[in-house]
Amino acid sequence: MNADDIGDDLLDVLISAERLQARISELAARVDADYAGRELLLVGVLKGAVMVMADLARAMHLPVRMDWMAISSYGSGTKSSGVVRILKDLDTDISGKHVLVVEDIVDSGLTLSYLVNNLQSRDPASVAVCVLLRKRAAAQMPVDVAYTGFEIADEFVIGYGLDYAERYRNLPFIGTLAPHAYT
Ligand code: 5GP
Repeated sequence: MNADDIGDDLLDVLISAERLQARISELAARVDADYAGRELLLVGVLKGAVMVMADLARAMHLPVRMDWMAISSYGSGTKSSGVVRILKDLDTDISGKHVLVVEDIVDSGLTLSYLVNNLQSRDPASVAVCVLLRKRAAAQMPVDVAYTGFEIADEFVIGYGLDYAERYRNLPFIGTLAPHAYT
């Protein structure tokens, strides 16, 4: 899927596919260096983090394990519901393990802070967070993010895993949605 395929629903390309891949390679190199000699479990947050998880893991040299969680977030709107629920839990027991949570975007911080607290209660060796996008005006809840791809303005974005009403996840770039597409 590309810009031409969504026509005037797309307002702008915010971060091109090339910039995404270049930044993810940089993050992968840092994660490789930071976890050298240790076993690392990447925990992807479904569904938004599918693309970043796949590209980050493939850009890394360490032989990581991968697992997934699904938690509720925005539903089909564009504002946080504030309700966080685990819809799918990990298959892995993380006690004594080094865990890196891979998430698409942090906005209010509600989702990630809930998730990190939840994982920390399972007695892991460590929990760190990697997010592709961080909204500048974000953070009702402070979250310690070790690896950030890009800081963005407080606007609703789509693509590269991020949806609006389950659409646009398969765009290879991050874009902004035209208001007429969601009003
Ligand atoms: P938070 O709990 O930090 O407010 O929101 C985190 C979750 O909300 C993300 O994992 C993502 O699913 C969703 N989200 C936040 N901002 C955006 C956005 O701009 N676009 C899309 N598609 N989802 C977002």
